[in-house]
Amino acid sequence: MDRDILQIPTRVDTITFEGKRYFIKRDDLMSREFSGNKGRKFYSLLNQDLEGIDTIVSYGSNQSNAMYSLSVLAKIRGWRFIYYTDHIPQYLADNPTGNYKGALDNGAEFVTGEIPDKDSLAESMIFVEEGGRESFAKEGIYILADEIEQWRQENNIDNLNIFLPSGTGTTALFLSRYFAEKKASIKVYTTPCVGDEIYMKKQFAMLEDDEKYHPEILNLPKKYHFGKLYREFYEIWLKLRNKCDIEFDMLYDPKGWLVMQEYSDRLGEDILYIHQGGLLGNESMLPRYRRKFENR
Ligand SMILES: *Cc1c(COP(=O)(O)O)cnc(C)c1O
Repeated sequence: MDRDILQIPTRVDTITFEGKRYFIKRDDLMSREFSGNKGRKFYSLLNQDLEGIDTIVSYGSNQSNAMYSLSVLAKIRGWRFIYYTDHIPQYLADNPTGNYKGALDNGAEFVTGEIPDKDSLAESMIFVEEGGRESFAKEGIYILADEIEQWRQENNIDNLNIFLPSGTGTTALFLSRYFAEKKASIKVYTTPCVGDEIYMKKQFAMLEDDEKYHPEILNLPKKYHFGKLYREFYEIWLKLRNKCDIEFDMLYDPKGWLVMQEYSDRLGEDILYIHQGGLLGNESMLPRYRRKFENR
């Protein structure tokens, strides 16, 4: 099933935005089910034998991309999926949308109680940390790295800079480590969207001690809070959609693009941006943006 379900390798497009060329790795075109980033990260859960497992347990927000992808995974594998979240607003319960609706449709069981201790779970249960911050993510991310390295060689690009916005930083870290191990002339840059730079460095250190394998962190002077709405986010998102005909995600990508523009010189001529999918989440974000900035 594996590669067919995921529809990898994904292609690379070339776009021009505000007078500058960018290569876009179209992981958003992976199966809608395994929206981009999470499909890469959960690759090994989809492919390993995992005999004796019948349930996935995870936790996080009620509109998480990871939650949705895990619900698909559980459905494909015929497992139960139990998801802990601290709160489901009545409005959402009555009008399910986006990732929440998708997960419900796939049979996710929501619990609004305390997250169980990982070690207290039955042996038939797999516990997945919030957002999929796990070393098992490495396998799928290395496949992504390998696709990029092959593409670089085929296109004779000598020094490639990769940029991608981060949540837990798992994807950026494993990409960076892969290229360093292979001594490929590729450097990985990222920006934290969920926490600050200190949080990001801690996340990297949890997965890899040696800093020479860490991605380089770029940030903006203004502090942005994850999931909040900002006019400049909406504007750049709209511009990208209207001028380049690519729909990006509304949680991570707007900050990613603002950072890439801010550090345009530093990132040089050959920049590959990874579109990490997550478009199902736009179903709930776009109406919020419209209400806020279009006075509807
Ligand atoms: C999860 C996710 C990210 C963040 O990935 P990390 O590996 O946690 O840094 C970025 N973009 C999208 C669309 C995601 O779903």
